[in-house]
Amino acid sequence: MDQDAVRSEVRAWLEENWDPDLGVFEWRNKLAESGWGCVTWPAEWYGRGMAGSLEAVVREEFNRIGAVGVAAGVGMSLAAPTILSHGSDDVKGRFLRPTLTGEVKWCQLFSEPGSGSDLAGLTTKAELDGDEWVISGQKVWNSGAHKAAFGILLARTNWDVPKHKGISYFAIDMRQPGIEVRPLRQANGYSTFNEVFMDEARVPAANLIGQRDNGWAIALTTLAHERGANTARRPKFRNVDAGRCVAEAARESQEYFATYAWYPQRAGRPDLVSPQVHATGQQDDPVVRQVAMQVVTQDHLNRWTVQRTVAARKAGRPPGPEGSLAKLNGSLMARLCNRAHSEIVGPAGMLLGADGAQNGMVNEVLISTPAMSIAGGTDEIQHNIIGERVLGLPKEPGNDGDQPFRDVKTNLR
Ligand SMILES: Cc1cc2nc3c(=O)[nH]c(=O)nc-3n(C[C@H](O)[C@H](O)[C@H](O)COP(=O)(O)OP(=O)(O)OC[C@H]3O[C@@H](n4cnc5c(N)ncnc54)[C@H](O)[C@@H]3O)c2cc1C
Repeated sequence: MDQDAVRSEVRAWLEENWDPDLGVFEWRNKLAESGWGCVTWPAEWYGRGMAGSLEAVVREEFNRIGAVGVAAGVGMSLAAPTILSHGSDDVKGRFLRPTLTGEVKWCQLFSEPGSGSDLAGLTTKAELDGDEWVISGQKVWNSGAHKAAFGILLARTNWDVPKHKGISYFAIDMRQPGIEVRPLRQANGYSTFNEVFMDEARVPAANLIGQRDNGWAIALTTLAHERGANTARRPKFRNVDAGRCVAEAARESQEYFATYAWYPQRAGRPDLVSPQVHATGQQDDPVVRQVAMQVVTQDHLNRWTVQRTVAARKAGRPPGPEGSLAKLNGSLMARLCNRAHSEIVGPAGMLLGADGAQNGMVNEVLISTPAMSIAGGTDEIQHNIIGERVLGLPKEPGNDGDQPFRDVKTNLR
């Protein structure tokens, strides 16, 4: 199908079916049945099997008429694509629809106190007991776990094989007695991620995603999507008075994306740099001009890299190392913005709240930007990925070789 044919088909469907007075879940169930909510998904799983290049046309038509799309966030950007690639038909059947409607919200339970960069060194254990897995261990930095109904979980199911070969991937129900979610307080004042303690929590055997002990390969799918996507991109609602469906979707979005309220500051707020240079009359200051221009230049470079990533996805290419480049660019940008904001406002950037520059915004930027170089894999890990997978450099030497994980020295033992 070409763009014009898709446009006229989706337009006709929306004109006949879009009803702003439906409840948001009812509307999204209609999207699931029609395939117009996730057009790149296979036809048997709520999609239309279309090329990624046609997705933008469909989105334009949704925006034109003001129709609500499928849910956004970790569920759609990480859990759903992983389940689509690796889940059994049973798992797809139970999880994809409530994820796209937004009835099930997800969090990511990967990092542990002793294994973040060395994710494959994780020690949360899963033991089979009849037709249930029993999970014990601790996760950390789990964004939105306090609101999630399900988590994508990595746990060790085999200690007698090398570390990458004994991990399994599960969908775990967060609302059960064996799980305690403890919010963490951040330096910037927010509390948006958590520690998650699992003490004999239960996962039905049917919620294993992919094969037992093959979870590392599945985790790589999730991580590739994480580097290439922005899980914090909030949908825009032009007119929340346009009916029940829009109002419910806007409310849902406001509640869900509260977890990510500080992410624009984390990214450095490049949008504020030039206006602030002018507002403070420093456009002729040679140092301020210099750092502000570096931000503007890098901003353009970043946009083009993101467009390249989007174009690759539209052309049907899977997420690849260009996600690492985009991630590194984001870190660089955050640091450049830090420098520029500091040059513009001087010591006032150290003050919090109403006393601080731009009502404390600059201080929030300065405290939040280091997270940019850590979340979703640190800068050093992205360098390793680019070195090994793009430049073909030799693999980083490890300390664990092929020995069983049980005998490997880790951060914790
Ligand atoms: C905002 C934010 C949100 C997050 N959300 C989630 C979430 O929802 N779910 C989740 O599971 N996790 C989440 N994380 C955790 C994140 O994935 C980890 O923090 C990250 O992978 C780094 O792991 P770590 O903190 O254990 O640091 P470490 O791995 O201990 O790294 C410490 C330092 O050592 C360096 N280092 C480590 N290994 C190497 C190496 N081989 N070569 C060179 N340098 C190395 C690192 O680059 C870093 O500078 C989040 C983190 C942040 C900041």
